[in-house]
Amino acid sequence: MKKEKICIIGAGLTGLTAGYKLSEKYDVTVLEKESQIGGLAGGFEIEGANIEKVYHHIFKRDEDAIKLANEIGLSDKLKWFKSSVAMYYDNKVYPYSSLKDFMLFKPLPLLSRIRLGISLFILKLDKKWQKYTQTTAEKWLIKYAGKKAYNIVWKPLLIGKFHTFSSKISMGWLWARLHIRLNTRDKQGELLGYFEGGFMQISNNLRDLITRNGGKVETNQMVESITEIKDNKIVVKTKNSTEIYDKVLSTIPSNIFAKLISKNSKIDSKYLVKLNSIDYLGAICLVLSTEQDLSQYYWHNINDLDLPFLALLQHTNLVPKKYYNGKHIYYLGSYLDADSEEYKEGDDKIIRKWLNGLKKVLPDFDIEKVESTKIFKFQNAQHIVDINYSDKIPEYKTPIKNLYLSNFSQIYPEDRGVNYAIKAGNKISNILLKK
Ligand SMILES: Cc1cc2nc3c(=O)[nH]c(=O)nc-3n(C[C@H](O)[C@H](O)[C@H](O)COP(=O)(O)OP(=O)(O)OC[C@H]3O[C@@H](n4cnc5c(N)ncnc54)[C@H](O)[C@@H]3O)c2cc1C
Repeated sequence: MKKEKICIIGAGLTGLTAGYKLSEKYDVTVLEKESQIGGLAGGFEIEGANIEKVYHHIFKRDEDAIKLANEIGLSDKLKWFKSSVAMYYDNKVYPYSSLKDFMLFKPLPLLSRIRLGISLFILKLDKKWQKYTQTTAEKWLIKYAGKKAYNIVWKPLLIGKFHTFSSKISMGWLWARLHIRLNTRDKQGELLGYFEGGFMQISNNLRDLITRNGGKVETNQMVESITEIKDNKIVVKTKNSTEIYDKVLSTIPSNIFAKLISKNSKIDSKYLVKLNSIDYLGAICLVLSTEQDLSQYYWHNINDLDLPFLALLQHTNLVPKKYYNGKHIYYLGSYLDADSEEYKEGDDKIIRKWLNGLKKVLPDFDIEKVESTKIFKFQNAQHIVDINYSDKIPEYKTPIKNLYLSNFSQIYPEDRGVNYAIKAGNKISNILLKK
């Protein structure tokens, strides 16, 4: 029997997981606008190895990702490494991995440290996340951790991640981040998962499995419109092609999806307003390689709003540098409005500014010894999870029959991530396989 034709828009991990799962029953075509697959979890070559364009690791609780890795032949590549966290504040790097570190964090008075510790303990124990969605992280943290802890520890991180939206962010989102992480630590600290050979192998293996099942994954195919025609069929138009499908699954950000469907008669303004009510921020990431070993920590929170980046990672303090010709790999990352001047600045200017910032954090850093640098920009990297965000989440089914939506704006209260993209791909496939 001839298989029904399904088009999946977007070759990130949601689209590729769905493509793989659906390719047994459907004739799958995945269309990706970029020249490479992988989306936010895509990779590139540095020092003879494939590495993520933006820093990636997974957590012990990321069951969907671990299960898929086993299923697609990556179980022996997934390695677990001990993480270490530091905080850069007031010109100094402080260890910030353990309860002991929090308690010894001198910039906060002892009473504030105790309050902060108690507030984290509450979040670790409390499983009832719904109640946190009605209040902002700012309000909750000031009330429970205190104003000093908020200003020094939390405010710079929230501003770094959410900019002008920072005071609107739901405590539900922060609850999920902290609750999950605090509960995956054991006495030895936190173990993080990394795929030897890079996360890109997940995308590549999924693509190969889709093709093996008779499907296609096409790059450089920017979808320009999705239109319903007679018999509930759907036309997907790209710059180079126009194809008719039985079903379409979009995994692209909700605001872009809204543009692609806006001309259909079944799409009313209320649905478009809902899709457009979700704001997104872009992300910039600088990756560099050097022989210099500058820090003893993997992850550095940058609690200094004068610096242009929010996070600094010495990737090779998590995974061995032998993967990268013995060189150290560093990531500097920031979230910002994709329409801002800062986002649009040229790569050279960003690199200059950020490397000077790196020298401020780690004074032994010698710019002359940098061997390679690369900037990556993503326009829709993070959705804004404000209070009552649940009301904004779009449904999997759209007003058009046979047109489905599954993207990371539906992930809540958890932070979007590789595990949840895979989970979303599995979930939407189960819905479509039951049809
Ligand atoms: C800075 C940063 C750090 C991160 N770190 C981690 C981490 O440590 N651990 C973790 O688990 N997760 C991390 N993530 C999140 C993780 O990468 C994402 O949640 C996941 O990859 C999202 O997959 P997706 O398929 O839902 O979306 P995407 O990866 O965004 O995929 C959507 C795809 O659709 C394509 N597309 C868009 N418009 C069109 C169009 N018109 N036509 C065709 N194609 C189109 C895009 O190019 C993209 O490939 C990080 C993300 C960022 C930005």
